[in-house]
Amino acid sequence: MSMAREPHTAIPEEIDLIVIGGGPGGAACGMAAARLGLRVVILERDCFPRHRLGETLTPKILPLLSFLGILRDVEAAGFVRMSGNASLLGPELEIRPFASDNRGLGFQVERERFDLILLEAAERQGCIVAEQASVVGLIREGEAVIGVEIRRPGRTHTERRLAPFVVDASGAAGFVGRSLELREVESLRTTALWGYFTGSTSANDFPDGNTVLEARPDAWIWSLPLADGRRNVTCAVDAGTVTPGALTDRYLEVVRGSRLLEPLLRTATLQGAARGVDARWFGSRHYAGPGYLLIGEAASFIDPLTSQGVWKAMNSGVLAAAVANTAIRRVDRAPSPSTTSTRSSDERCATTRSTPFGSIEAPRFPISHSGGRAGAPRSTSPRAPG
Ligand SMILES: Cc1cc2nc3c(=O)[nH]c(=O)nc-3n(C[C@H](O)[C@H](O)[C@H](O)COP(=O)(O)OP(=O)(O)OC[C@H]3O[C@@H](n4cnc5c(N)ncnc54)[C@H](O)[C@@H]3O)c2cc1C
Repeated sequence: MSMAREPHTAIPEEIDLIVIGGGPGGAACGMAAARLGLRVVILERDCFPRHRLGETLTPKILPLLSFLGILRDVEAAGFVRMSGNASLLGPELEIRPFASDNRGLGFQVERERFDLILLEAAERQGCIVAEQASVVGLIREGEAVIGVEIRRPGRTHTERRLAPFVVDASGAAGFVGRSLELREVESLRTTALWGYFTGSTSANDFPDGNTVLEARPDAWIWSLPLADGRRNVTCAVDAGTVTPGALTDRYLEVVRGSRLLEPLLRTATLQGAARGVDARWFGSRHYAGPGYLLIGEAASFIDPLTSQGVWKAMNSGVLAAAVANTAIRRVDRAPSPSTTSTRSSDERCATTRSTPFGSIEAPRFPISHSGGRAGAPRSTSPRAPG
């Protein structure tokens, strides 16, 4: 499936939108922005495929995948379809099916494969994707973010790229948010512990594709099956109850106490050790400023039990593309027909503005939605710094 991207993709000088991070948020933002005719560069620190938690995608994701033109690719990848929730939040088991046929079901995805599908789609849709390209610095002019410094393996110097707009889609790393000290943690001290089991069995009282949710006095537990036969079991516990070095013991203690999982895991084996991650919720003092926007987990982290993190990342990515497009082209500054009695429509639509990078030309409207493909003429693109 992989297109074996060049690890040292040349990063062009003329860029309209820099996206930091190639996860679901960055890829969705890139796709939407490329469709609007923007010249997009996605800078990704890792080399895909790379692991991530966040494997339950509820049916809410379907219209978004469809809008981005990748629903068929995701359907064809053979992920387990997420058929509903089996939850034990009080004394009674509740089973909530989502739909009776595949068209209304979500997905239980291996994020390695899912995120790769998205990043490759972003590339096909016209984005330049540079992997192993870590953003290590912001270039600022006063309050405004006007570009980034990039470090790549095997190179002694950092590269600098300027762009009228930078979207931070760097996930928990939150590069822009941390650099500008925007992050605000407002949460109990929660740690998520997770692991993968092989050899799990089916439940008698709910379908295999369900996400299992269980509340205990000292923990939340959730679990989902993956197409490769593994079962993810994650629990969220008070960080104070986890001792470094005894993480797997604490994890197994919680998992073994699960009423719903006990019959499923009776014959199952934990692969390797359990792992842990800080799962405190956080937000940002603000989410946008001159020349930048924070999206997805770079902007905020909500309770993972909601299973909405990937949707939130992708949805905010699409919205960010629209905002960046407007900000770059300054659509709001193109006078409306009612206020322009003397100028021709060509003059109206060719409004220019000065930027630190030179003058940027507003597009003729309506913006073509087919202009985002690689190599397509970009008559509506603003000029970026040379
Ligand atoms: C325990 C747990 C369980 C979860 N369960 C679910 C779930 O079931 N369903 C769900 O939808 N969500 C879930 N989530 C949330 C989900 O993992 C995130 O919301 C989602 O991954 C966010 O996507 P993103 O694109 O914002 O960030 P990411 O997927 O993290 O992508 C960010 C990318 O940016 C790159 N990057 C970072 N720093 C730099 C840099 N300086 N330069 C260049 N690149 C950089 C990273 O390498 C990474 O590839 C869960 C999270 C946790 C912690």
